[in-house]
Amino acid sequence: MVLITGIAGYIGSHTAYALSQAGFEFVGMDNFANSRKENIDTLRELTGKDFKFYEVDMLDDAGMEKIFAENQIDSVIHFAGLKAVGESVEKPVLYYHNNITGTLILLEKMKKYGCKKIVFSSSATVYGNPAVVPVNEDMPTSTTNPYGSTKLMIENILKDVCVADKDFCAVLLRYFNPIGAHKCKKIGENPNGIPNNLMPRLCQAALGITESLTVFGTDYPTHDGTGVRDYIHVCDLADGHTAALKKAMDSTGALTYNLGTGNGYSVFDLIHTFSRVNGVEIPYKICPRRPGDVPAVYACPDKAFNELGWKAQYDLEDMCRDSWEFIKEATKNN
Ligand code: NAD
Ligand code: UDP
Repeated sequence: MVLITGIAGYIGSHTAYALSQAGFEFVGMDNFANSRKENIDTLRELTGKDFKFYEVDMLDDAGMEKIFAENQIDSVIHFAGLKAVGESVEKPVLYYHNNITGTLILLEKMKKYGCKKIVFSSSATVYGNPAVVPVNEDMPTSTTNPYGSTKLMIENILKDVCVADKDFCAVLLRYFNPIGAHKCKKIGENPNGIPNNLMPRLCQAALGITESLTVFGTDYPTHDGTGVRDYIHVCDLADGHTAALKKAMDSTGALTYNLGTGNGYSVFDLIHTFSRVNGVEIPYKICPRRPGDVPAVYACPDKAFNELGWKAQYDLEDMCRDSWEFIKEATKNN
């Protein structure tokens, strides 16, 4: 049985669906800090499975104990965490406590119940401002904000656990920039509060919720001056977890993989592709660089292909189309 922490979130919900399609049994937990309860009903409908769900905060020791006591959990996919970079700068203690203490409590329960397999949601943010792109898994790591530091610290904690327990396996997945949504239009990224990331902000401008999209900087050393990232369809990312879980089942030690497409697209590339495939104008205005942003980051995805047999299938047009279809559906009654 797989435990999915943060199952109600954007990537957790898509991964639960992918795992279900691949025949895995799972239980889920979330405290809805950044997601909606309805997502659980939607997931049960989509998967046709009445999987067990626990509304628990991972900081709640007794709540976590109950999940492990009531289920034979042999592996964990660990999504639960707070992820807003700006908020992490304002509230570092909240971020360190939630993400790190929460993971430590999870690891204590795993140890107590003999669960030795974990797939962890890390991030390309651990590459900091890379000296060269594409980035591969052996490149130096550094962080520029508390959120990123929690990811790097958890990676290191999991590596230490693998050293201490030779049967333990931690697969550290460094996600690049997930966008898009499942074709059913019922799960996707619809964050609570004001979004930070480009695609949800772009959708808000397209819907007229905001007056325009702010383009942060046109003076980067990139092909059109705007920041370059590796956007990856969330369904590809979800499939990467199925592959990673299979790998964890018959491996030991800490294994690190980039989950990206290997393609770098700029902010203008995204705006123009979105406009073209969806037939909508994106009003935008150009502003100075956002502090902390790096010029260009995209993945070398070869290791995931060679060792997990996983490769992204969707292109930027699919991602733009699916993001738009989902957000129109999610906001149609507002
Ligand atoms: P999300 O916010 O949609 O999902 C995270 C889920 O964790 C939410 O449902 C939230 O309610 C839950 N959660 C947070 N703290 C919790 C706690 N203490 N107890 C129980 N549940 C808790 O985010 P996402 O985009 O689905 O990201 C999933 C994971 O992937 C996160 O760890 C995130 O840091 C990481 N990640 C995301 C991105 C991205 O761009 N979306 C990129 C790299 C890494
Ligand atoms: N970006 C932007 N306007 C926004 C949000 C983001 O121009 O409203 C740019 C940002 O500078 C970066 C890219 O879009 O170059 C991706 O930003 P995002 O926050 O989505 O991801 P991250 O910076 O964490 O990779």
